[in-house]
Parts: sequence; C-alpha cells; structure tokens
Amino acid sequence: MTTKKNMSKCPHCGIEMKKWMPPEDSSWDRLYHFVCFNDDCPYYVNGWQHMEQNYSQKASYRHRYDPHLDESGPLPVWSSNAHRGRIID
Ligand SMILES: [Zn+2]
Repeated sequence: MTTKKNMSKCPHCGIEMKKWMPPEDSSWDRLYHFVCFNDDCPYYVNGWQHMEQNYSQKASYRHRYDPHLDESGPLPVWSSNAHRGRIID
C-alpha cells in the first residue's frame, strides 16, 4: 500500500514528526496530532526571530499537522521543552 504523500514528515526539515496529544483544555479534539519537535527545524528556529521582531515575545512555534482533519498549522511554544510531555510516540 502506498500513500500519496508522507504527512508524518515535517515539510520544513523532512524529519519524522512525533505523535502529540493536545491538552484537554485546547479547542482541538482528543485525537493525536503530528508535531515536529526538531530543535533545528528552520520553521521553529526562524519562529523565535519572527516573534521577537514582530511581537517582542520570547516564543516560537512548531509545525503541527492534524491527520484527522488534514490540516496543518503552528503550535506555539515558549521553550524547547514546551509540549514535550504530551508526546505519545
Ligand atoms: Zn520540522
């Protein structure tokens, strides 16, 4: 069986993403998302600079993909360790 595109890989760095459970109080559903937890990912690295320059915030975001809705978007983070406790795979 072949898939058209491997959506479990980050489009920014090409590294396999982790399965991640959203917090209970988030607006997302209870199913896992894929999140790129690579600290060298250009999306994440550039995010720090972008947030600092545009919003004067010490924050960034990681690439997130929801395989159930087929939607991707940013997952805001405040440190390298943020959200790592919710990785399930
Ligand atoms: Zn990445």
